[in-house]
Amino acid sequence: MIKILVAEDNPVNRELLRELLEGRGYAVLEAGDGQQALQMAEETLPDMLLLDLGMPVLDGYATVRKIRENPRLANLPVLAVTAYAMRGDREKIMDSGFDGYLSKPINAALLQEEILRLLSGQDLFRSSTGLLREENGPPGPAIGKTKKQAAGGGSTSSDSKR
Ligand code: MN
Repeated sequence: MIKILVAEDNPVNRELLRELLEGRGYAVLEAGDGQQALQMAEETLPDMLLLDLGMPVLDGYATVRKIRENPRLANLPVLAVTAYAMRGDREKIMDSGFDGYLSKPINAALLQEEILRLLSGQDLFRSSTGLLREENGPPGPAIGKTKKQAAGGGSTSSDSKR
């Protein structure tokens, strides 16, 4: 079963995400701030992290930075969940180590789409290491850059866009 860690400080939003995800058949773990999310990610090694940007203790940006610096977590797919969907935010988010983002209020169909996209990217990553693609889910669209940040931890990639 695919395990998704939800890091969100608002209990109502967290519950909503849990219901959406469990309804799609995912196992859900919950964290209430970034520090807790880091600790739980270390302990449980989830398949994906949904990370709220605005959180106490450690916000989403600081959390994803620490994740990318951690060899055990560097390749974890991380989806930003943001209340501020302003012009320019997408670039900032994508340049900060996230693999994608969703704006609140969360659209259930988009959430599922992003999860499948990230998981299929992970499958491609795995298949390149000689392991077989997982059985469920259709082959996703061509994935080129979801691992850009995760792979190097820096901007060594020549295709980093401006
Ligand atoms: Mn928040």
